[in-house]
Amino acid sequence: MKRINITCPACGSRAYLRPASVVYGDKAPDPDAKYYVCGRYPACDCYVAAHRKTMLPMGTLADKALRKKRHDAHVALDSLWKNGIMSRKEAYRLLQLSMGLPAEDAHIAKFSAARCDEVIALSRRFRAAAARAA
Ligand SMILES: [Zn+2]
Repeated sequence: MKRINITCPACGSRAYLRPASVVYGDKAPDPDAKYYVCGRYPACDCYVAAHRKTMLPMGTLADKALRKKRHDAHVALDSLWKNGIMSRKEAYRLLQLSMGLPAEDAHIAKFSAARCDEVIALSRRFRAAAARAA
């Protein structure tokens, strides 16, 4: 496995690959998952999940407020394909095109709070348009 150095965008400390129990205790949604956790955790509450196979971070480390924003953005985008307004692939394509991002950057786990707000607004517009068309 390639060794990678990841720093926390909030405080600049190094992040370490840790088991889910470090951030979730015994309430981890997936106890086998790994997370990149800020070296100053819990004083600095930033972390991000690691890909199961590659162990690379799924995005940038985020604090509680940004994790909540990203969650809300996911729910908003998911609502487009879960309600059959478009396919999942189309929803991510829409994300790329409307935000002007290459595929590798069109991941909510990489987004700032402002970009998450854009996703939420965009999803709302498409849901409203679909409702009018129905
Ligand atoms: Zn930090």
